Amino acid sequence: MWPFSSRRSTRPPAQIFLTNSLTGSKELFVPLKPGSVSMYSCGPTVYDRASIGNLRSYVFSDTLARMFLASGSHVRRVINITDVGHLVADAEEGEDKMALGAARERRSPAEIAERYARLFVEDLDALEVDTGAILFPRATEYVAEQIAMAKTLEERGFAYRLPEGLYFDTSRFARYGVLGNVGHARLKAGARVAPLAGKRHPSDFALWRFAKPGDLQQWPSPWGRGNPGWHIECSAMIRALLGPTIDIHTGGEDHIAVHHNNEIAQSESANDRPLARYWLHNAFLTVQGEKIAKSAGNVFYLSDLAARGYDPLALRYFFLQAHYRTPLSFSFEALDAAAEGLLRLRRLAAALREESGGKAAPSAARERLALSVRDDLATPAALGILWESLKSEEYAPEEKWGLIEDADAFFGLALGRKAEEGPLPPEVAALAERREAARAAKDFAAADRLRRELEARGYAVEDGAKGPILTKRPR
Ligand code: AMP
Ligand code: ZN
Repeated sequence: MWPFSSRRSTRPPAQIFLTNSLTGSKELFVPLKPGSVSMYSCGPTVYDRASIGNLRSYVFSDTLARMFLASGSHVRRVINITDVGHLVADAEEGEDKMALGAARERRSPAEIAERYARLFVEDLDALEVDTGAILFPRATEYVAEQIAMAKTLEERGFAYRLPEGLYFDTSRFARYGVLGNVGHARLKAGARVAPLAGKRHPSDFALWRFAKPGDLQQWPSPWGRGNPGWHIECSAMIRALLGPTIDIHTGGEDHIAVHHNNEIAQSESANDRPLARYWLHNAFLTVQGEKIAKSAGNVFYLSDLAARGYDPLALRYFFLQAHYRTPLSFSFEALDAAAEGLLRLRRLAAALREESGGKAAPSAARERLALSVRDDLATPAALGILWESLKSEEYAPEEKWGLIEDADAFFGLALGRKAEEGPLPPEVAALAERREAARAAKDFAAADRLRRELEARGYAVEDGAKGPILTKRPR
């Protein structure tokens, strides 16, 4: 039933270090079961397309999974699809996101969910995420499991009823707010909205909400018709699909304070076991330094970038140039630079495939690359090692080809597969040849003029050790 992905290895397991939001420090990763890693990533709410900000979160978790796979582990991955229960601004009261999407498009919530879940998976495919190896359960398919968990919480005295629904009593969970060390007191003090009348503490949250007239999504429950609260879906689906305790839980850092602390409170109160051993959070993508928001008009989707002629993997390369825990600012200038870098890597890969005959040999550079990725996914350093080693005279073509293969396993940039971006147009190839001839004759004025002609046709020229490298600029 499980779409397993694995690579068998007889070598001792590689040491992996990850920054755990539970402790705030970098720790040696020890899986629950040797050779196997279970991973859950909070998924998108499918009332709209996923922005490139959301996609940063999934490229991060995919890079994490690739690191485990390349290190010889099995990886069991789940990304949930939120298709019920999520209110605007992650609030406890207010508008429901699926209802908003349904009203906007005059379709049912199920149709909206179907459409945006499909577009989400298509985006991930375009970003080289191996979606065949991931389970994408929908919250509406796990309502029974959510009710069962809420029932257990009520029976154990962790929940109370209000006219609006069934609420989790956060004061009953001693470790409440452990993640990010926000604690009980700070959560109460920091509550943004006036608490619902009758709610015992501002941080208490809905496990089940009673249906209001006109609610499109409702199910029967022991408490009456309604729908599950937002946080319970993750707790219930994790238990159903991965077990009471998982190795790694990921998400964006916005979810630390409330959503993930609520998941911990529910799961640990229901299961008497820790929910996740390692919590990993990615920092946000901003657009030119601003928060991504529809109201600010700065939301971009992967389809916008494709329409402008960018390879989706240029976005992946752009993400990898920053550490996942560092905020990153998107701009088209920065994406242009990433697209050029990626194309140059692919041309290097094309040349190396010919020189090495596609044979890989071990090298110190490959070890260094792997070590940096296993050091809390230090992708900027790892990309530096890749570039430096590919340009170095120290390594044989087979060693460099091995590096390309490793880089593809870790980064998902398809350097080997997309090495040839197609032959150069004949007139461009002719200009490049004339420029080489001018350079050989030391006629640098002519060489510069020809470079400008190439640039006018949209090609950047870089003089590599084995001749010029031409890269087509996007747009
Ligand atoms: P949501 O649909 O809002 O729950 O978001 C889905 C995932 O994307 C969550 O893990 C969020 O934390 C993450 N996320 C949302 N916006 C951004 C952003 N601008 N940059 C990085 N991650 C984000
Ligand atoms: Zn979640």
